[in-house]
Amino acid sequence: MSPAAPAGARAPRVDVVVAGGGPAGAAAALALVRAGRTVLLADAGRGPAPVGEALPAAARVLLRDLGADGVLADGHLPCLANRSAWGGPALGSTDSILDPHGHGWHLDRQSFDRQLRARAREQGAVLATGSAVRPLDRTADGGWTVGLGGRETVRCRWIVDATGRRAAVATACGARRLVRDRLLAVHLTLGPAARPADTTTTVEAVRDGWWYTAPLPAGRRLLAWYTDADLPAARTALPAGLAATRHIGPLADAHPWPPGAAPRRAPAHTARLDTVHGEGWTAAGDAALAFDPLSSQGILTALFTGLSAGRAVHAHLDGDPAALAGHARAVDQVHALYLRNHRTHYAAEQRWPDRPFWQRRHTRTHQEVPA
Ligand SMILES: Cc1cc2nc3c(=O)[nH]c(=O)nc-3n(C[C@H](O)[C@H](O)[C@H](O)COP(=O)(O)OP(=O)(O)OC[C@H]3O[C@@H](n4cnc5c(N)ncnc54)[C@H](O)[C@@H]3O)c2cc1C
Repeated sequence: MSPAAPAGARAPRVDVVVAGGGPAGAAAALALVRAGRTVLLADAGRGPAPVGEALPAAARVLLRDLGADGVLADGHLPCLANRSAWGGPALGSTDSILDPHGHGWHLDRQSFDRQLRARAREQGAVLATGSAVRPLDRTADGGWTVGLGGRETVRCRWIVDATGRRAAVATACGARRLVRDRLLAVHLTLGPAARPADTTTTVEAVRDGWWYTAPLPAGRRLLAWYTDADLPAARTALPAGLAATRHIGPLADAHPWPPGAAPRRAPAHTARLDTVHGEGWTAAGDAALAFDPLSSQGILTALFTGLSAGRAVHAHLDGDPAALAGHARAVDQVHALYLRNHRTHYAAEQRWPDRPFWQRRHTRTHQEVPA
């Protein structure tokens, strides 16, 4: 099937257009095609630059449910422990040997996303890359005419919004994004080390935020500084801030800084939509619910909510009146659990009670506001 036609010609039709080819979109597309739906998985190719994320071991179960467990076979590094200096200067460690699912991974994120999309295509989804989805019109039968960038259009019965933090489809349809804080990531990929890297993630709390580092495939290392976008610390140069760390600095020092490379800035705040479904659309992944990366649960949640959205849309199109509300409940439960863990985690760091970054996270006044 040709996925799209110029405007004016009779546009081809699929059951569902999935907007966004990250983990949430690929999971939704996989759930839908495996249920027998015709799916167009469209990715604009203009998401945030890949950071180099860690994937928890529990993802194994979801990937198996999606028929995509093979995507972790090559190109990613095992993550054998998570270490943190949090609540005190000493480094504590949680070893993957204690995890019933085994070890996690340091992902080559571009390859992970590409492989997931390839799985969706192998199982029957039509893949359109470089295609930014824009809902254009409702059709007489209650569906959509959807723009794919340029003059291409496609008709569908439903849209899944998996466009990441911008939630492009949901917000175009009137949903509102609610944000809880102003966390910002300033991150840089360091060059290959002369000696093999460790196999752990390392977090270190400091007076105005926290640092994160982890090895990446091909000997490289991710270095990231997290603070609030409105604090002066958001403008600190990475090398100056790094000098004040006890554990992160020595790990970073083993890697060359890429000449002339500027650190990238990425929003990392907690956010969600005020509703995850509406007339003709359903949201999944960061579009529905975006986490503080301290949780290390973003991709896992994107896979889970993508799977949940795909199943709910399939059931809804089959006539189940409760399916979309069931998806919304699942997202609410994940959100409530995340908030509880988030509060507990930040409450465990009490060394800088006078610093705004920590005060904001220790008070209940840190409430959601429209973005
Ligand atoms: C600094 C930082 C560090 C992080 N570290 C971790 C970590 O260690 N572990 C972890 O699990 N998570 C981490 N996360 C979170 C993780 O990156 C996200 O939760 C995850 O990428 C969400 O997946 P997604 O599919 O919802 O969205 P995305 O991965 O953002 O994918 C959205 C896709 O939609 C496409 N798109 C956008 N608009 C359109 C449109 N109109 N039409 C079609 N396509 C469109 C984009 O091109 C993109 O490919 C981190 C996040 C940040 C910011």
